[in-house]
Amino acid sequence: MSTTLPHEAERSTPPATRINHWIGGQLVPGTSGRSGPVFNPATGEQTGEVDFASTEEIDRAVAVAKEAFPAWRALSLAKRAELMFSIRELVHERREDIARILTAEHGKVLSDALGEVARGLEVIEFACGVPALLKGDFSEQASTGVDVYSIRQPLGVVAGITPFNFPAMVPMWMWAPALACGNCFLLKPSEKDPSASLYVAELLKEAGVPDGVFNVVMGDRVAVESLLEHPDVAAVSFVGSTPIARSIYENGTKNGKRVQALGGAKNHMVVLPDADIDMAADAAVSAAYGSAGERCMAVSVVVAVGDVADPLVDAIKERLPNVKVGPGLDPQSEMGPLITREHRDKVASYIDSGRDQGATVVADGRDLAVDGDGFFVGVSLLDNVTPEMDCYKDEIFGPVLSVVRTSTYDEAVELVNDNPYGNGTAIFTRDGGAARQFQFEATAGMVGVNVPIPVPVAYYSFGGWKSSLFGDSHAYGPESIHFYTHGKVVTSRWPDPATSKVDLGFPQTR
Ligand code: NAD
Repeated sequence: MSTTLPHEAERSTPPATRINHWIGGQLVPGTSGRSGPVFNPATGEQTGEVDFASTEEIDRAVAVAKEAFPAWRALSLAKRAELMFSIRELVHERREDIARILTAEHGKVLSDALGEVARGLEVIEFACGVPALLKGDFSEQASTGVDVYSIRQPLGVVAGITPFNFPAMVPMWMWAPALACGNCFLLKPSEKDPSASLYVAELLKEAGVPDGVFNVVMGDRVAVESLLEHPDVAAVSFVGSTPIARSIYENGTKNGKRVQALGGAKNHMVVLPDADIDMAADAAVSAAYGSAGERCMAVSVVVAVGDVADPLVDAIKERLPNVKVGPGLDPQSEMGPLITREHRDKVASYIDSGRDQGATVVADGRDLAVDGDGFFVGVSLLDNVTPEMDCYKDEIFGPVLSVVRTSTYDEAVELVNDNPYGNGTAIFTRDGGAARQFQFEATAGMVGVNVPIPVPVAYYSFGGWKSSLFGDSHAYGPESIHFYTHGKVVTSRWPDPATSKVDLGFPQTR
């Protein structure tokens, strides 16, 4: 394939490469005159400059996708499935290349980046089964001589707007089912780490996806608003922070579009007094600090119930010095930097605000020293956090774990359920009855029982409740097939002309 990788992770002092759009099966330089910087978060160096699309550029991209739609939707299910299999093979074969781009622009460690690609691949594999997923129902002889059947048809041109924290996987949640269902796709990736999308676009072309079926438009708010207002964009999938998710949902639906908008999170891990302390501490450290806490399913609050609190905090604290923080390409590193300098500073500010508002700072990640000018903050732990504190209320999206102590299970559940977010939550216990009660009561879309990050497998759907999701459909899995298609019901009769007559009555079953 033509190698137009904007960045090579190995370069120590890369020139800032221009990162263009991908429209109609080729790179298209931006013409708006607007752009934004892309950094290597491990070094602090600017490695790229990404084009920001204007409304006119979005119009052109939508027109290209619209033109590609009739032939794409007419392609047989067998051919579309075959293409999905080819895409699966190529993404799997080049997973290391994709992971390196993720590490270079996002900062996550290479093993984590490979894990991201693997979870995205699962969704592509799910989409390979599209012929079975699009099967309709059939009722023979619903009325005398009348058959009724249901079919599902693609929407047309659909758009995906994605966050910085999973630059490959979250787009795969969207484009894989959308394309398999016969839609043409416009991806607007995060402007902070856009290059993986271009690499994947090339893979799709190499797999045989026709030009115009998959497009990448780079940009910021202007591009997003243009997509939301464009009459030829039928649906929008969004994943990102809650305030933007809410406005995307409101504006998109106001403009008559189908919208699913997944927002932010504050995931609680409840630890009951009977839990295995070591297992719970391992899980809390892994889930709080993996990917530097920049996961929408990261555990950001441990709720320690009863007398588990002291030994649990000790066990977590004991593990922290062993977490190796460093550049993502260093095989020793377990946790990389944060996405930008500004985000690093914001995350770090919660350590002071926690202390000022009465929390106990057990570990202060600002003490960490890593060579260079990367956007690092080390693992941080706040104990005795209460619900009024900013470090509890805000989605920090960094390696700052809060511990809230409660006396009872009921208090713990109340805390989980009073929280405005409802993405994931988990319980750690040896008591099956308590776990089942928690699963019954918790107001969150994804619940883990002794599993701290309960991201569903690809044949279920992913999504939260409350301020973690706006819209009716969760991402990927069966709900994505529903989201990316219209339902149609056909009522059919092949009458004997001899029995035909005029009948003005309302049709009834006979
Ligand atoms: P973000 O909301 O800042 O950006 C997401 C997307 O929206 C990007 O493509 C960005 O360019 C665009 N955008 C930003 N500001 C905009 C504006 N004013 N108008 C229109 N578009 C705008 O989110 P982020 O910082 O990239 O990602 C982190 C957030 O995403 C966290 O809140 C995290 O919890 C959330 N997230 C949620 C899930 C989930 O499944 N619920 C998954 C991953 C990330």
